[in-house]
Amino acid sequence: MRNLASIQRIKALEPIENADAIEKATVLGWQLVVKKGEFKVDDLIVYCEIDSLLPDRPEFEFLKPRGMRIRTIRLRGQISQGICFQLSVLPPGFEIAEGMDCTETLGVEKYEPPMPACLSGIAKGPFPSFIPKTDETRVQVLQELIDVFKGTKCYITEKLDGSSGTYFLNRGEFGVCSRNLELLEDEENSFWKVARQLDLENKLRSLNKNIAVQGELIGEGIQDNKLRLRGQTMRFFNAFDIDRYEYLNFEQFTGLMNQLELPTVPIIETDYELEADIGAIISRATVKSKMCQDVWAEGIVIRNQTEKKTAPGMYQDFNMSRISFKAINPEFLLKYGE
Ligand code: AMP
Ligand code: MN
Repeated sequence: MRNLASIQRIKALEPIENADAIEKATVLGWQLVVKKGEFKVDDLIVYCEIDSLLPDRPEFEFLKPRGMRIRTIRLRGQISQGICFQLSVLPPGFEIAEGMDCTETLGVEKYEPPMPACLSGIAKGPFPSFIPKTDETRVQVLQELIDVFKGTKCYITEKLDGSSGTYFLNRGEFGVCSRNLELLEDEENSFWKVARQLDLENKLRSLNKNIAVQGELIGEGIQDNKLRLRGQTMRFFNAFDIDRYEYLNFEQFTGLMNQLELPTVPIIETDYELEADIGAIISRATVKSKMCQDVWAEGIVIRNQTEKKTAPGMYQDFNMSRISFKAINPEFLLKYGE
């Protein structure tokens, strides 16, 4: 799990044009508006990133009108993402150190969009333990990682705003999963409908191995169908070798998708040298969708082309021998109130 709330340092404070009462703070790779004079450069503070759901407690009362959710906002022309609190929001005795996770201590949870009835289905069981759930870390917390891997050959795909689905064949058993559950087969569930439409069970069986493919279900009835698609469709972004407990790399993945005639998420760039500049990466994410030219894309996902072993434990999220992270389009977040 990524840290939604953690102890961080105020890296910089800058004035905002035409604003006396507020200023711009930099925390990690994030920029946010704070009350002028409330913090000093180098102060340790508690930072909560966007998509944090704060608990219903008196000190967070002011977030009630916004459903307790931290969203992207624009104040006096300045984009603001996340929120800072004084360390005094932490319980007495909490160890104060930069980077310390306090998500659980504060009772912060990740906001997940509600699932429409067509997707929720009937649970067969928990998500299988032999496949990782899909998730992506936000680039804003990865300055260290992109410094280390600067120049690495990467590819960029469009991030689609739908619902995550996983299909697997393991020891002869075919399975269909939503983001967090394995689902019983039924007539109505969209993940199962797609499985039948794309003939996924037979396609996976033809490979004669234990394998999973993962993608994003998009279209009518899902996340307001911002791309204005007809019907529903799955766009794949992962193939996972269950026996080796390893993702296929880009070449193997695209090869497999071609072989099985399965659609991938839109590929934006195949030859991208990773930049160590969060601002530049966010600019790259500020693009229109490849699937609907006049609509903002949700963002991009950047991954390395080939395996690169990171030292074990070096980055908790990157122990799967690959670099993979998301950069969300700020215009998308502002437009859809996220
Ligand atoms: P979020 O939707 O913010 O929780 O970000 C992570 C999720 O993005 C993953 O769990 C996937 O379901 C989804 N996703 C959409 N498009 C892509 C893509 N191109 N590559 C990887 N994940 C994606
Ligand atoms: Mn999503």
